[in-house]
Amino acid sequence: MKWVYTIGRIGGTEVKVHLTFVLFLLWWAVGGYQDAGTSGAIAAALWLLAVFGCILLHEFGHITMARRFGVRTPDVILLPIGGVARLERIPEEPRQELLIALAGPAVTAAIALLLYGIIQVTGDDAGLGDLSPSRPFLSLLMNVNVYLLLFNLIPAFPMDGGRVLRALLASRMGLVRGTRVAATLGQVLAAIGGLYAITAGHPLAVLVAFFVFLGASAEAEAVQTRAAGSGLQVSQMMVTEFRTLPVYATISDAVELLLSGEQREFPVVDNNGKIEGMLTRDNLIRGLSTLGPGGPITGAMTAGVPLVSPTLGFQDALERLRSSRLPALPVVDQGGGLIGLLTSDNITDLLLVQRARPDGAGGTRPPV
Ligand SMILES: [Zn+2]
Repeated sequence: MKWVYTIGRIGGTEVKVHLTFVLFLLWWAVGGYQDAGTSGAIAAALWLLAVFGCILLHEFGHITMARRFGVRTPDVILLPIGGVARLERIPEEPRQELLIALAGPAVTAAIALLLYGIIQVTGDDAGLGDLSPSRPFLSLLMNVNVYLLLFNLIPAFPMDGGRVLRALLASRMGLVRGTRVAATLGQVLAAIGGLYAITAGHPLAVLVAFFVFLGASAEAEAVQTRAAGSGLQVSQMMVTEFRTLPVYATISDAVELLLSGEQREFPVVDNNGKIEGMLTRDNLIRGLSTLGPGGPITGAMTAGVPLVSPTLGFQDALERLRSSRLPALPVVDQGGGLIGLLTSDNITDLLLVQRARPDGAGGTRPPV
């Protein structure tokens, strides 16, 4: 089951929807159906799509401003609580982040003003602040944008207001501490809002609070990890004491090796020491049941694994490891010789050590 689906591409940015958004759309349409049958369902779905169209424009406000500062946005994901534009990086200069954070709300404000202008021209009543479903479409859409603007400006991470706050804090106390303060504030507000929504019986608001809470911790985590690993390269964080398996080994040889020590992933090498693949614990267990103890490990291992250079930077190495979906990757020197293993366990340990340092934020010094 996939959680995220790509629905299109606009100027180098993939537009994706989260499964929960699709469910939310269906749930909304079912509500419309219960009120007014098929036409009610269609009207409800179109209404929600119009709202999310406005949210997408808001996100492209951020994306366009980010591009001005040379920051690309690989994708934007629509969630039931709104959109998340995933910037390739956070600009180093807090002033740039400030402008990127403000560009989205500026678009939302422009949409609201434009709709207000149209409503004035047609001579209707704008009904500012009124969200009752009986209001005309344009007036309702304008008011939704007004509330979106106010919601986005709440100074809690990961809302835009939180990013503005983070940019202001970061210029004084640095990115990591600024993010931590803004994220903690976001989580506290989300917890209070979530509890209030539960007692008041607003399931939708509970969902919003839940996503805000997750978003805040994910951002703080990502920034901390990046900071802890900044300036490090693979040679400083790879495992250098490890065992390998020759290509002619059997499954039972590998089982013996697995049980004899702590190592759980084994590089499989040929007679010249060249990497043929990786045998993970999962590979081994599966191989044991399908091939039996006498089977060749080459039939069980993962072949064609990506190789890592010892000079690769921390962030790139982390991404390569994640995208490989393997718990470990072989590190090879320029001649193709195996010199280490990059494992997720070791990276976790490294981050724990870095965070426990007295300066708290990690730093550019290599680990001790
Ligand atoms: Zn925004």
